[in-house]
Amino acid sequence: PLVLGIETSCDETGVGIVRGRTLLANAIASSMDEHARFGGVIPEVAARAHLEEMNPTIERALADANVTLDEVDAIAVTCGPGLAGALMVGVSAAKALAVALDKPLYAVNHLVGHVGADLLQGEGLRGTVGEIGELELPTVALLVSGGHTSLLLVRDLVGDVELLGETIDDAAGEAFDKVARLLGLPYPGGPQIDRAAADGDPAAIRFPRGLSLPKDQAKHRYDFSFSGLKTSVARWVEKHVETGAAIPVADVAASFREAVADVLVTKALNACADLGVPRLLLGGGVAANARVRELAQDRALAAGVELRVPPLSLCTDNGAMIASLGAQLVMAGCVPSGLEFGADSTLPVQQIQVR
Ligand code: ATP
Ligand code: MG
Ligand code: FE
Repeated sequence: PLVLGIETSCDETGVGIVRGRTLLANAIASSMDEHARFGGVIPEVAARAHLEEMNPTIERALADANVTLDEVDAIAVTCGPGLAGALMVGVSAAKALAVALDKPLYAVNHLVGHVGADLLQGEGLRGTVGEIGELELPTVALLVSGGHTSLLLVRDLVGDVELLGETIDDAAGEAFDKVARLLGLPYPGGPQIDRAAADGDPAAIRFPRGLSLPKDQAKHRYDFSFSGLKTSVARWVEKHVETGAAIPVADVAASFREAVADVLVTKALNACADLGVPRLLLGGGVAANARVRELAQDRALAAGVELRVPPLSLCTDNGAMIASLGAQLVMAGCVPSGLEFGADSTLPVQQIQVR
C-alpha cells in the first residue's frame, strides 16, 4: 500500500511516503533554529511552525515520491506521545486529508514509529553497520532522543510492544543539551558535545553511571537516570572554575559522553542477555552519537548480538517512520482509526495504534 505519514510530535514537521517497506519520500522541516536561542524546544513556537510548514512539506513529499494524493491508499499520523499542541497540528491535518480524500486513517504511537523506521528499504538506506538483512523479531529497541530514553521489547510491531524501562528523570538528549549549555556550547548540544569530545580523554573524569549500582538492579535494571550525572558535571565545572583555571571542555565532554554511552549500551545489552534476544535496534537523535554507536557496535559484537542502526535521517524524528508503521498496520489488516481520536501527549508505548 502507498501510505503517507505525518509526524509533528516535537520540533520536526515530517511527511513521509512509503510503498509497503519501500521508502519513496521523507520531507522534513525543522523549527530547531527558532528554539536555539531558548536552549530548548518551546511548545508554542513548535506548534506554530508545524502549522506554517505542514502544507509545503506535504507538497514536497508528494513531489519527491512522484505520486499524487489520489494515489495514496492510507494516511498515518503520530497521535502521541509528544507536545500536545504540536501533535494537534499533525492530527488535524491528517484528519482533513483522510476526510477530503476518503482514505483510511491510522493514528499511531511515535515511539513504535521509531522502530518502524528500521523496516524501510531503499537506495542507500543501509550501510551504517554493514549489510544486514530483514528485521527479525523479537528485538530489543533502545530509543534515545531529546524527549525519550526508552528500552523496549518488540515481539510484534503491530501487536506486542513491551516497555522494559525508561528514564526516571531527564532524557539522554536532554542531558546532552543541558551539559552543552553548562560548557558554553550552543543548542542542540548533542552534536556539539560529540564534536568537542573527539579531542578529549574519556577517562579524564569518572562521572556517575545512573541506576547502575547493585542495589538498583532489582527495581531499575532497565531504567535510566541522567539528572545526577548532569549535576555531577555542573559541580565539577563549578569547582574547577573556582580554581581560576580554564575548563578542559574536551575532557569534560568526552568523560560525560562516555558515561552516557556506557550506561545506555550496558543496560540495552543486559536486556538482550537476560531475555535471550540476540538483536538490538537503536533509534532517536542520540543514536547519532559517535561514541554510542561505537560502543554499541563493539560490545554487541562481543556479546553475539546483531546491532541495527537506521541511517541518521531515519533515526531523528521523521514522517517516513510513521508511514512505515502505518503500512504495517494496513498490511496486517488492522481496522483504521476513525475520526474520534485526539492527540495524547502521554500515550503509553504498549498502545501502538489509537482507534
Ligand atoms: P522526541 O524526543 O519526541 O523524539 P526530539 O526532537 O528530541 O524529539 P530527535 O530529533 O530524535 O528527538 O533528537 C534530538 C536530540 O538528539 C537532541 O537532544 C540532540 O542534542 C540529540 N543529539 C543529536 N545528535 C547527537 C549526537 N551526535 N550526540 C548526542 N546527542 C545528539
Ligand atoms: Mg527533534
Ligand atoms: Fe522521536
